[in-house]
Formats: sequence, C-alpha cells, structure tokens
Amino acid sequence: MRLTLRSVIYAKLVNITSVPVYACEGCSRNEVFPGVKSDLGMLVNRLGAKPPAQTIPFDEIHELAGVLSHAQHRSKPLRQATVARVAEERTNELLDLWIVASSVGDEAWMAELRGRLSQLSAQYIS
Ligand SMILES: [Zn+2]
Repeated sequence: MRLTLRSVIYAKLVNITSVPVYACEGCSRNEVFPGVKSDLGMLVNRLGAKPPAQTIPFDEIHELAGVLSHAQHRSKPLRQATVARVAEERTNELLDLWIVASSVGDEAWMAELRGRLSQLSAQYIS
C-alpha cells in the first residue's frame, strides 16, 4: 500500500482534492489514510446530502494533508524522511503561533491551534 494524495468525489458534485489515501499497487483498492478519516467524515457530514458543486482543497483545511502535500512538492513519490521533516517544521510554526496566542491570552486562537496540532499527531506509516 502506497500513501498518495488524490481527489475524492462526494455526491457526484463535490471534488475534494489532495486527500491522503493508501493505494494498493496490486489491485485498485483505495483506503483513506486513518489519520484523516474522522475529519474527512465531519467535512462530508457538514456538506450534507445535497451539496452545491464545488472543489475543496483538503490540504488547505487539514494540517496533515497540508504536510503531505508540501512533502510531495519536495519529493515525489512521498518519502517518510521528507514527511517527517515537513511535519516538524509545521509543528514548530504552530508552536511559535501558540506562544503568541497564549501570551496575548487569546483562548479562541489557542483552541484553533490545539486542533491543528492534534491533526498533525497522527502516525505516518509508509
Ligand atoms: Zn490490493
């Protein structure tokens, strides 16, 4: 199984791009990466049964997808070492923002950053 980013079509109208997916090279089986499954499920839930046609770049709304997308720009196919480096850089960025948010006592911003950091905590297994 190889981890790649691909588009997922929902309800024939919504194109969700850059979704981390495990693809089997032997058969055509695809499986959404476990670390993003629940967040993707929540997104689909919010869209409802009859969403308007649209394109949603998943790598812009999910930190882990964003990291994988960045890593893929640096080295294609994805390499675990590159993913780890990009994830560490992004984590450090978010922690720097966290320091700013907590020093000004912005609770809403801190909660948002906590959510983003937790998206990055999923284990990446190649
Ligand atoms: Zn297979």
